[in-house]
Amino acid sequence: MTSDNHNSLWRDFPKTATEFEARFATEEDCRAYWIEARWGGKPACARCGSHRVWTIRDGTTFECADCGHQTSLTSGTLLEKTRKPLKMWFRAIFEISTRRTGISGKDFQRIMGFGSYKTAWSWLHKLRTAMVRSDSDPLGPFVQADETLVGGKGGPNKQLVLVASEANGRVRLAHADNNDEATLKAFADSEIAAEAHVVTDGLASYNAKSLGQLSHEARVQTKAERREHDAIQSCHWTASLLKRWLIGTHAGAVRRQHLQAYLDEFTFRYNRRKTDGVVRIAARVIESAVATRPLTMRNLIDCTRPCRRFASEQTTPT
Ligand SMILES: [Zn+2]
Repeated sequence: MTSDNHNSLWRDFPKTATEFEARFATEEDCRAYWIEARWGGKPACARCGSHRVWTIRDGTTFECADCGHQTSLTSGTLLEKTRKPLKMWFRAIFEISTRRTGISGKDFQRIMGFGSYKTAWSWLHKLRTAMVRSDSDPLGPFVQADETLVGGKGGPNKQLVLVASEANGRVRLAHADNNDEATLKAFADSEIAAEAHVVTDGLASYNAKSLGQLSHEARVQTKAERREHDAIQSCHWTASLLKRWLIGTHAGAVRRQHLQAYLDEFTFRYNRRKTDGVVRIAARVIESAVATRPLTMRNLIDCTRPCRRFASEQTTPT
């Protein structure tokens, strides 16, 4: 989709609950928006790309006049095979977007009227996967890097999260196995611009092996110095907000195999805290949902392997 289309789409998005009710009053309203977000207004055949299609099955599917292939509105997207109306998904997206700090599974269940917590959780988690960053620009020019432990009672259950932050700017978070050089290198390579200046604490694994050619300053600070002027204040602030969010909104109940998805949601919201607002968040989630490949509920719920962005077995040089 073009950026023009993206801009007009989110500008068009309702700003209040009342506007939302009016704008997406019917299933047809939601389908029209979905078609706009997915195909720029003109549905295309998933097999041959032809725009010569007609609507069948109550508007949920298109049949191609050229090759006869049937394309469902949601096939190949995050909402593939959903049995619920788009209107309900739009409602859900609006609910998660209007709350600055997100929403717990329990509250979401109540608001949406779901019979089970499991359904509420799986909808939330599905939408969470659409809360991914829209820009891949690495952080810079002034970046702080640090790590923090979240969740669990007692040391062994704590999970390590790598934090990189521009001074009062964007952040990136990654659930990591450890803070060895290889893991920090993978994180820095993917999240920090090559020309950036990086400030860290005195942790020994921030060195030429992990940070490569990056300009690096290690600051060992006393408590008093930190209170006066903390050299990695943005990281400390982010880590403290993250912990409060995990405990406040999610009651600390995040399982470690899902932690990265929560970190992505936090980052998505945090990086939009100043400029984007509710409207843009909701529009962005829909835009991302049409472009995200299907994710089955079974995959979501039965996921047993911790999804760490940088696991050491992937990053250790062979
Ligand atoms: Zn076709």
